[in-house]
Formats: sequence, structure tokens, C-alpha cells
Amino acid sequence: MDDCLFCRIIRGEIPAKKVFEDEHTFAFEDLNPQAPTHVLVVPKKHVRGLKEASAEHAEMVGRCHLVAAQIARQRGVEDGYRTVLNVGPRAGQSVFHLHVHLLGGRILQWPPG
Ligand code: AMP
Ligand code: ZN
Repeated sequence: MDDCLFCRIIRGEIPAKKVFEDEHTFAFEDLNPQAPTHVLVVPKKHVRGLKEASAEHAEMVGRCHLVAAQIARQRGVEDGYRTVLNVGPRAGQSVFHLHVHLLGGRILQWPPG
């Protein structure tokens, strides 16, 4: 995906504050943080979002969450954090490359807005 924002970040064409990278995943600080910890974890392979994912992407979706859990542990926010996938424009999805938000470091209200 040549013009996908997150594909471009993964390729290093757009600067981002990298938090973690491995063979399958890339994690970076959200540009507009909504909590003291707000990291985006994305698969290196482009998939538009959760509703476009299928069984072949199960491992990818799982890996993104496990990376989020690992970052939460490293950041010391395990007393309360949230992983979020916004799916579709009515849920606030604005970038159409699947991503897991990791939010933590403050009290998180329920239900989310
Ligand atoms: P969503 O609204 O769920 O699609 O999440 C997209 C997220 O990407 C938002 O929280 C934005 O703040 C974040 N974002 C947009 N552009 C950038 C960027 N260049 N670097 C880091 N985060 C970004
Ligand atoms: Zn992409």
C-alpha cells in the first residue's frame, strides 16, 4: 500500500517515535495521545481493519495484542490499561491499516465514549 500512512511509517518514510519492532509488528507513539501511555501497535502486513480481517490474520491480530501487553508491562501500567480497535468511521477509525491502541497511565472510564 504505497499511500497508506502506517505503511509509510513502517517503511520509515514518515517519522514516528518507534517503541518496538519485530518481524511481524511495529509499535510507535500516537501523535495525539489520549493517555500518558498511548501507543499504536500495527502489523507490518497491510490489512484495512478488523472487519476486513479473516482467519488467516488470527495470528497477526493476536500478536499485536501480545506486543501491547508487553509494552504495558515495560511501561509499568499493568494496574489498568486498555487495548482498543476502532472499527469503521462511526467508531472513530481514521486510518485504514489495522492498529491496536494501547492506552494506560490514567483512570480509564467505562463505557468508553
Ligand atoms: P483511529 O482513529 O483508531 O484510526 O486511530 C488512528 C490514530 O493514529 C489516531 O489516534 C491518531 O492520533 C494517530 N495518528 C495519525 N497520524 C499519526 C502519525 N503520523 N503518527 C502517529 N500517530 C498518528
Ligand atoms: Zn498500510
